[in-house]
Amino acid sequence: MPKATLRDIAIQGKRLFVRVDFNVPLSKAGEVTDDTRIRAVLPTLAYAFQEGARVILASHLGRPGGKVDPTYSLRPVAARLQELLDKPVHLAADCVGEETEALARALTPGEVLLLENLRFHAAEEANDPAFAQALARLGEVYVNDAFGAAHRAHASTAGMAAYLQPAVAGLLMEQEVTYLSKVTDHPEQPLVAILGGAKVSDKIPLIMNLLDKVSALLVGGGMAYTLLQVQGYPVGDSLVEPDCLPLARDILAKASERQVQCLLPRDHVIAQDIKADAPTRVVTDEGIPAGWKGLDIGVQSVERFREVLRTARTVVWNGPMGVFEMAPFRQGTVEIARAVAACTGTTVVGGGDTIAALALTDCSQAITHISTGGGASLEFLEGKTLPGIACLNDR
Ligand code: AMP
Repeated sequence: MPKATLRDIAIQGKRLFVRVDFNVPLSKAGEVTDDTRIRAVLPTLAYAFQEGARVILASHLGRPGGKVDPTYSLRPVAARLQELLDKPVHLAADCVGEETEALARALTPGEVLLLENLRFHAAEEANDPAFAQALARLGEVYVNDAFGAAHRAHASTAGMAAYLQPAVAGLLMEQEVTYLSKVTDHPEQPLVAILGGAKVSDKIPLIMNLLDKVSALLVGGGMAYTLLQVQGYPVGDSLVEPDCLPLARDILAKASERQVQCLLPRDHVIAQDIKADAPTRVVTDEGIPAGWKGLDIGVQSVERFREVLRTARTVVWNGPMGVFEMAPFRQGTVEIARAVAACTGTTVVGGGDTIAALALTDCSQAITHISTGGGASLEFLEGKTLPGIACLNDR
């Protein structure tokens, strides 16, 4: 971890401004339906309380568009956090202003104040310096623990570090950077990447960056069909992005130039419609007939992928192998989840759909690191500099 973390500085009695990612799904009744992101910050909070710090938490929730909108209030989050911490969580009516500053100053060690939605102010996403300074006035230390928002250069995720020092990573941020770096920086070889999901266009920078590092690339899901088309395999009516055919050619050329073993599915569960009750067939060398779509990888492909994963020392996985939301097209993704979980090396999984697919199995516990950031983990693995990390002090 090249950046300073909460553990590198003295925080006793200090007011910590902690940017978190509490952008959680809410039910119509306004209850938190998945508290994974809240739980992910608990180690940072436990450490801060144990060290006698005073904690101010700030997050965005949804897209209120720079206006106060009660639908996007963090009140349900305050309620859930209070249950998880088993201590009172005060909610400040606004994230900036004199009243909020007074509440922050009045905190005693071990107390926690949650600020109302940062995106009730358009200045947050505009990274407005005056707004960043107003946020900075609330704390004595800036802690960024919002890995899920680290690819955004907003006032609270990056801008305010210029006005509030020291600026350090929280423990969740530290964990994310540590494990994702095991893929991008000097990974233990063989490094195997498994990529899937709908579109190849979404993953081109990711594939190009990973091709410099991996020894094998396993491709499934909808994105495989643009690559298969380039290879002359009959793909029928599968998802193909015609605009991406030249790039798909470049990907295959780069893989062969770099001697990366690039495995595409060779058998497919196919159907004429993407429907849970559509009749299915399995095809191999003969290809996919017109009118049919490839919607999952077949058992032979699973076996070939599993063989490569068996000897991997590092695995990174992003994107399901098929339309896993529907039972007839789920098996490939489930089997790959099991194969990743069985790998004894470091295993890193990212992306909302991939995590949802993993949750269908009982394998989550066996994964070394499940990233909490969808877009942020993708950009990190693409080799981009994330503003929310770059703004922190070097160790
Ligand atoms: P992504 O957000 O790019 O990771 O894509 C995830 C989505 O890709 C899921 O909703 C899957 O249903 C979809 N998907 C996976 N495989 C296929 C496929 N063969 N054809 C169409 N959609 C697919």
